[in-house]
Amino acid sequence: MIFEGLAEKLQNTLKNLKGKGKLTEKDVEAAMREVKLALLEADVHYKVVKDFVKKVKERSIGAEVLESLTPGQQVIKIVNEELSELMGGVQSKLNLSSKPPTVIMLVGLQGAGKTTTAGKLALNLKKQGKQPMLIACDIYRPAAIKQLEVVSEKAGAVFFSDEGNKDAVDIAKKGLEKAKTLGYDIVIVDTAGRLHIDENLMEELSSIKKNVKPHEILLVVDSMTGQDAVNIAQSFDDTLGIDGVILTKLDGDTRGGAALSIKAVTQKPIKFAAIGEKLEDLEPFYPDRMASRILG
Ligand code: GDP
Repeated sequence: MIFEGLAEKLQNTLKNLKGKGKLTEKDVEAAMREVKLALLEADVHYKVVKDFVKKVKERSIGAEVLESLTPGQQVIKIVNEELSELMGGVQSKLNLSSKPPTVIMLVGLQGAGKTTTAGKLALNLKKQGKQPMLIACDIYRPAAIKQLEVVSEKAGAVFFSDEGNKDAVDIAKKGLEKAKTLGYDIVIVDTAGRLHIDENLMEELSSIKKNVKPHEILLVVDSMTGQDAVNIAQSFDDTLGIDGVILTKLDGDTRGGAALSIKAVTQKPIKFAAIGEKLEDLEPFYPDRMASRILG
């Protein structure tokens, strides 16, 4: 489960602090050294760790904390608040257009879980009473189109593809037109991925963006890749401009570095977390609940 190692280490460190009763600045500093190590081991971006520890320390060594009746408890509260803040503080919702259809474009590297996530998102939106249409723009892998068709069916969503058409931009435009004509309120565009970020991919994605004007460009990224996930998010944001992130495979990520770093590094919120292979395995990302998971 996510934050396994981090949770144990932080809870032990903070328990010691609580056990001490009265605290000195030195006690706080020693504890923050441990917190720093635990975060680095969890693969949190080093700059994020540095800023985090600095903030917690500054807040913790204030007189109102150290001279309070329960200083250890206060420090735990501060750590909790700052962890939540690191992940965005409040839940970041999908930006639904007041004028349907809302266009959601999913981007990401191959294998990140894009196609699966498209189905999960469609199901999530269906449960909210929306009628989503999924558009298959991954023209390079025929299997990807079939896979999207299968998940669309399972989710009870409408599926659009244009067999034989080798122009992803054209497919996206045609799909959107159809959704408008038929009155669907959400359009999810599943785009091609590559193993690595390359110029051709970015050009194609930029062109789709220009033509379908998505309300949301969501990057699907594998949380198990840790720091890499952060770098990928940064690159996609620099070249394409993303609105948020869907973090996948949280069920297999024991460290949690990506979850803790992405918002702080890219300033883009994590909107959903995927926690398994089944279509139901998608949850809105709640920073405060995530923080509480770490501190128990
Ligand atoms: P794409 O290339 O980005 O479209 O990736 P796919 O949607 O084909 O997913 C790649 C693999 O990751 C598949 O085997 C999925 O079942 C798996 N996968 C996707 N999301 C999750 C998740 O949240 N948890 C787990 N355990 N597996 C996932």
